[in-house]
Amino acid sequence: MAASTSGVYQQLSYGAIVKLLKAWSVKYPNLIKVYNAQDTFGIASPGSCDEFLPCKQYYFRITNGETLPDIYRPEVFFSGALHGNERVGPTAVMEFARILLENYKEEDVAKQDIWLKKIVDTRSIYIMPSANALGYFANTREENGVDPNRDFPYNQEPNKCMKTTAARAINELWRKHIFQLSLTFHAGETSIDYEWGAYNHPPPYDQSPDERGFKQLAEASSNFASRFGNVKQYPTDRLGRDPYDVNGGMEDWAYAASWETKYIFPCKPSTAFFNGYPIAKTKYNNVSNRAMNFLVETSVSKDPPSSTYGTRASVFIPSDRNNNGHVSRNIRLALMMAEMVQPYIYILNENQLIEKSNTNNVANDLELLKHNYVWDVGGSYMVDETNLVWAYWPKDLHDGMSCHCFTENHETFASGHRPGYEIDPSKLHLKVASSIKNSPTRWINQPDYKITKRFLGQFSAKLPIAGTSTDNGGDSITVGDGNEIVVFIRAKVDSTWGKENTANAFPKVPPQTHVVQSRINPHWYGKSDDGCHGVQGSKWTYSKPICITNSRGKNEKIESAACNKFLNQFETSQKTLALQCPDQMMSEGSNNTIFGIDQALFLILTVAIGMVSLGLACYCKYFRRYGCWHCCRNKTLDSYIKSTDADGFFDDGGDENCRINNLTTGNDGDRIVVRSYQDSTLEEESSNTIISDEEEEDNRDAKQIEVEMVTQ
Ligand SMILES: [Zn+2]
Repeated sequence: MAASTSGVYQQLSYGAIVKLLKAWSVKYPNLIKVYNAQDTFGIASPGSCDEFLPCKQYYFRITNGETLPDIYRPEVFFSGALHGNERVGPTAVMEFARILLENYKEEDVAKQDIWLKKIVDTRSIYIMPSANALGYFANTREENGVDPNRDFPYNQEPNKCMKTTAARAINELWRKHIFQLSLTFHAGETSIDYEWGAYNHPPPYDQSPDERGFKQLAEASSNFASRFGNVKQYPTDRLGRDPYDVNGGMEDWAYAASWETKYIFPCKPSTAFFNGYPIAKTKYNNVSNRAMNFLVETSVSKDPPSSTYGTRASVFIPSDRNNNGHVSRNIRLALMMAEMVQPYIYILNENQLIEKSNTNNVANDLELLKHNYVWDVGGSYMVDETNLVWAYWPKDLHDGMSCHCFTENHETFASGHRPGYEIDPSKLHLKVASSIKNSPTRWINQPDYKITKRFLGQFSAKLPIAGTSTDNGGDSITVGDGNEIVVFIRAKVDSTWGKENTANAFPKVPPQTHVVQSRINPHWYGKSDDGCHGVQGSKWTYSKPICITNSRGKNEKIESAACNKFLNQFETSQKTLALQCPDQMMSEGSNNTIFGIDQALFLILTVAIGMVSLGLACYCKYFRRYGCWHCCRNKTLDSYIKSTDADGFFDDGGDENCRINNLTTGNDGDRIVVRSYQDSTLEEESSNTIISDEEEEDNRDAKQIEVEMVTQ
């Protein structure tokens, strides 16, 4: 993958995408988790994506698995292609993912982009590169003659929706999650569009209750995506005006299926379409479908040549018109959307500061008292107000947990991201050390160098220390007074998004999206049906707290440290949260420890169990032909299971009588489907394939390969 940091982007085929995902899941096990809609949801395959292989809707999540569980981590969704002949999207979303992954694992830490890292640490990014897998493979707009983007139940007749596996795959995924923001790529013209877009809200009655947020976000994204060659910056508008009205589109469904229920007619597709579809699956709870959804028309040509895709080197130089192109600018667009889903505070040198606050060291505490705090406010467009705030930790409450200093969603406190809580002013008396108001963030028409720098350190302030230049004459801190102090940075952002003039909106209701409500409204709250994902509003966004013991001197025994204790207890309690939610666990089977067992030991156990199984299974009638490695688990299906051998996996090199080409030539007309698994999760399925030595390397960490022989 040496070419990945330079060179011109190339269109990725369906097969290339599957192959890349497999490679990434081995290479970045804690960052990416790969699924497909067939295995996860039992959705039928839409057809054949090559001579033999059933087509699948692959999708994947990128987030820092090591910091899970975090049920309030905001989720975003990117769809590469609902129309299979609109070709830019799948490559754009894959290259976007590649940048996130490669940056995170950049070995030279100085080259790591902190901003991109922050996005992976604080968001769950779900990407379905080609929901219309069959259409993308065959380069056709539709799936088996049905348009997937008329196949959703918004303002659509019940017998005309959920006929495609593409729409079903998206539908099932959305039912399990709370996608707060989504981007769906198309082509045929150039624009970024937002709701409304169906015939029930015709222009000029197409202004949604979230118009202000939609408009600002679309414009900021268009600016950042920028222009190249003779291609202009994306115009932005409501879907109904541009490009067109549709019923049954994904867009209005993604935005409104949870609240504008009078236009949701649950689907009853004919059984001619993959045996029909349960009607209950197009009835929605109040939470799942409230996304800020954007439709991007990437290019006038539905399949522009790769020479117009842009270069890797230009991704963070939007003004480089010669080297930018369709892929690089849509990577920026996707980045902007992932950024904007939720506000956050980034304190420069945050980790070092928190580390210092965790030590019982007088010098460190003194430094934290006098530190010049420098920060940025991310995930937002306009900072209405940002403060350095501090409070004495309640003295009479030495058990930190009994402070109850936080109201609302205090269970997410200290998860290290965006604590969605409000401080209870009756318990923790916050004092404002500095206040900065009405400051636009870096996203508004900034030159490249500021964008490239990512974090600017836009704001700074010091604590008020008595007798120094920061003494504000009111509440100031006397060094060495023996108190404990908690320090936060906080910000209030984008409040104008919530002040939409409802008189102009259709229907006349306040903003309905999580993105808008959760940044202004502390009473905004919801969970997915399984309780594994949630959204919680908050008036202020807080930084991680920094605890300072304002020690009387180095000989004083620091015994309370209640603030730190509180934080530590909270971290611990986080770990026990959401244990029943598989996708809240660190990437299953790919982490360094599995149920506390060291991976090496786990491997030894796996191999031992595998060997015992082999011994039992070698009676199989195919034993003689294919050798002991291919053991019959299910004779009627002609299925074979092979555990990891010391040499890796199947190869075409001819050791161990394990050659796939032996199998493929075993019986005339038989074909072979090879599936590799990470634990029970299917990583890849390929057909009639000779796995190369290179792939063998990639497969070393996989746990299992299954070979199915299908008799023609
Ligand atoms: Zn389209």
